[in-house]
Amino acid sequence: MITISGLIYKDRRFEEGHIIVSDNGYEIKPGIMEGADHNGIIIPKFINCHTHIGDSAIPRPPKGTVEEIVGPPDGYKHRMLRQTSEEDIVQGMRKSIRIMESNGIGRFIDFREEGIKGTRQLSKSMEDETYSDHDGRIKCDIYARPENNVFDQDEIDNLLEVSTGLGISAISDWDYDELKAVGEYVAGEGQTLALHASERSREDIDKILDLKPKFLVHMIHASDDDLALCADGGIPIIICPRSNAFFGTTPPIERMLAAGIDICLGTDNMMLVEPDMFGEMEFLRNSISNNTSNHGMDQGIDQGMDYTVGDEKLLNIMLDNSRKVLNSNPDIGVEPWGQDGFIVIDRPTERPASQVIGSSPKDIRFMWRSQS
Ligand SMILES: [Zn+2]
Repeated sequence: MITISGLIYKDRRFEEGHIIVSDNGYEIKPGIMEGADHNGIIIPKFINCHTHIGDSAIPRPPKGTVEEIVGPPDGYKHRMLRQTSEEDIVQGMRKSIRIMESNGIGRFIDFREEGIKGTRQLSKSMEDETYSDHDGRIKCDIYARPENNVFDQDEIDNLLEVSTGLGISAISDWDYDELKAVGEYVAGEGQTLALHASERSREDIDKILDLKPKFLVHMIHASDDDLALCADGGIPIIICPRSNAFFGTTPPIERMLAAGIDICLGTDNMMLVEPDMFGEMEFLRNSISNNTSNHGMDQGIDQGMDYTVGDEKLLNIMLDNSRKVLNSNPDIGVEPWGQDGFIVIDRPTERPASQVIGSSPKDIRFMWRSQS
């Protein structure tokens, strides 16, 4: 039996409580426990909402545009993937999965390139025997990508059989009629599709939404009207601020929040950014305060808009919105056995949301892994 006491994240806020971990799982009880084995701030594990772990084995690229570095079919990443052996790609993915586990990530949503071959490589990486001595393990939602950006029903059927859904690069990379056929087929099958949108430049929001996406990634160049349409449609947007910074761009976080969008966070390409959600949160916090001051200087603050995003709200974004995308519950106390597990952060408990955002994986004192 292991006991943990401190502040537990529950119903979008922290309250005092303690947890008793036994062979059968764990039980949450109210109130602080004196003499517990571990003390700290207790939160559900993170969900990394956007990754490309297929490029883990690829050296960090030189500076370049999105198109030059990650654009299909001949950007740096795709050229390098073609030159890298399957064994190296799979080993790289295994390493990234282990890093994410130790960073307190309970689940990640991956856009896997290279068609059925790439999807199988990721499934294979997830089956690594080195995980089997854990009492549970990190989970992956695979969004698979058709190999040649054409509608091939057999290929789509095969991809959907081994994935959570389709993860499309962008409408700009496709002949739209082909992509529309894919979208209609996927929706008709009751399956899921998601895509990168308005990353390099603004793309036609009507064409994007006609594909019935479950969520969009980036939306850096979205207009206010584009964002309003996403909010109306209840479509979450996943942002990857550190990856965007590599390309010299910043997601319009304040405008997204003002539009009522559910924002989620991802770390994007492994070759660009460490899969560390603490780091991503802290970067997001810093970029929000920068944006706030810049906006104030450039345009005055007399437009009556409140750009302030406090740490509590940021933590809600981190812990709750991502579960909305997956339709699962963020509250570690409601249905413990079916959830992703929790982590205990060894930091002072004053202003806990700020403590969590200022932490790093080294502050994780204890980690519980679910059985499922
Ligand atoms: Zn991406």
